Amino acid sequence: MNAPAAFLPVVETPAETADVLIVGGGPTGLAAAARLAALGVGRVVLLERQTETGGVPRHCGHSPFGMREFSRIMGGRAYGRRLTETALAAGAHIRLRHSVLAVEAGPSLLIASPEGVYRCRARAVLLATGARETTRAGLLASGSRPSGIINTAALQDMVYLRHRRPVRNPVIVGTELVAMSAILTMRGAGGTVAALIESGPKPVARRPFRWLPPLLRIPVHCGVEIADIIGASQVEGVKIRNFTDGSVREIACDGVLFSGRFTPEAALLRLSGGRIAPGTGGPEIDDHARTSLPGVYAAGNALRGAETAGWCWAEGRRVAKVIATDLAGAAADTGAIAVHAGEGIKYVYPQKLTAGGQKSFSHLELRLSDWICGELSVTQSGVCLYNTRISSGPERRVRIPRAQLPISGDAPLVISVGKGKS
Ligand SMILES: Cc1cc2nc3c(=O)[nH]c(=O)nc-3n(C[C@H](O)[C@H](O)[C@H](O)COP(=O)(O)OP(=O)(O)OC[C@H]3O[C@@H](n4cnc5c(N)ncnc54)[C@H](O)[C@@H]3O)c2cc1C
Repeated sequence: MNAPAAFLPVVETPAETADVLIVGGGPTGLAAAARLAALGVGRVVLLERQTETGGVPRHCGHSPFGMREFSRIMGGRAYGRRLTETALAAGAHIRLRHSVLAVEAGPSLLIASPEGVYRCRARAVLLATGARETTRAGLLASGSRPSGIINTAALQDMVYLRHRRPVRNPVIVGTELVAMSAILTMRGAGGTVAALIESGPKPVARRPFRWLPPLLRIPVHCGVEIADIIGASQVEGVKIRNFTDGSVREIACDGVLFSGRFTPEAALLRLSGGRIAPGTGGPEIDDHARTSLPGVYAAGNALRGAETAGWCWAEGRRVAKVIATDLAGAAADTGAIAVHAGEGIKYVYPQKLTAGGQKSFSHLELRLSDWICGELSVTQSGVCLYNTRISSGPERRVRIPRAQLPISGDAPLVISVGKGKS
């Protein structure tokens, strides 16, 4: 692991000790903290850089959250509070305004707190740092820079935490789950949505979320891109270009919301010398959720970008159980089989399979790079271990049960999908 930044004066705070340190107080970290504490692994300390826990849901005034976890539909803020109360009640310790700066050998964390910078060593570390949205610059959207161009996370932050309404009738770029969240946020703030635009051939969000725009009579334009953003000081409209015939049309609006295209928040691991998986952009992990840094695990959106909160919560709980088992000195697993994303596969995780021990992942989790209707297959040394017909698209969950893979030897697995487009 790399040395921490040398210019930071490190203060002594011998009071902080931990068996497990969790970085990030979103649904993943809070779920893991609650379960680890309940399993009695010792002292569990969760570090959150913000002034409150809850992660992304804390600035989502809308629902739906909590169905899987609490069997009821909750707003994001109430959900975040409930997860926090559950972790505290189980005996976990929460440190707010604590930013983790580096992961060091041990494992040990370098932490910036209101009192100064200090180190804390633990028997295990869980990275639950979430994901961040791609900015407009990152999306290479053209046009001048009038105000009213933001991403969904910034919109949520302004509406729910600062009680401001930066736009009244924006166009939303993207049609995945988070775009639906932006629609709800706009409605909650008393605004409307001029249109949704999508570069792919159809909306990305799964049912029932993709029913929202037609229900609210919001036009959805697929197979188009933004050709220009019009307006000097404030957005006045956008020009969209159709990929098929090249035609350009104008939509009046006062803002452009870029939604989705999440990147795992993996800077901590990268700077600390951990391996990053090229497909996901998150930590490379094995089926226990162990990263390439000894004693360091990762879970939630830090692994691959946006999933639902309930999915991340369940993942946090599963990884917590595995950490507890590993700390109890369970029989070590053997070998490691690499899993590669082949043709038509955007990414797959875990990127390594082991032969023994308790697993965090019973499935290979993957995403397709395009809308595809064809044969999904897993091969090992050219031998087909699994194949199935599939019709799916980007951002849709595709899962292959590991139990159905008759793996032999330690040659890598390659997952690929045939080329026919749906
Ligand atoms: C706009 C938007 C709307 C959404 N709406 C819904 C919805 O309606 N329903 C639903 O189920 N899901 C929704 N989701 C998805 C859901 O919010 C996420 O799946 C979930 O929050 C992921 O949980 P997480 O704990 O992995 O990450 P996060 O919630 O992102 O939490 C990560 C935490 O780690 C902290 N952190 C990061 N780095 C550090 C560091 N170095 N030191 C200390 N702390 C750190 C962050 O401050 C943050 O609090 C939405 C997502 C977005 C972006």
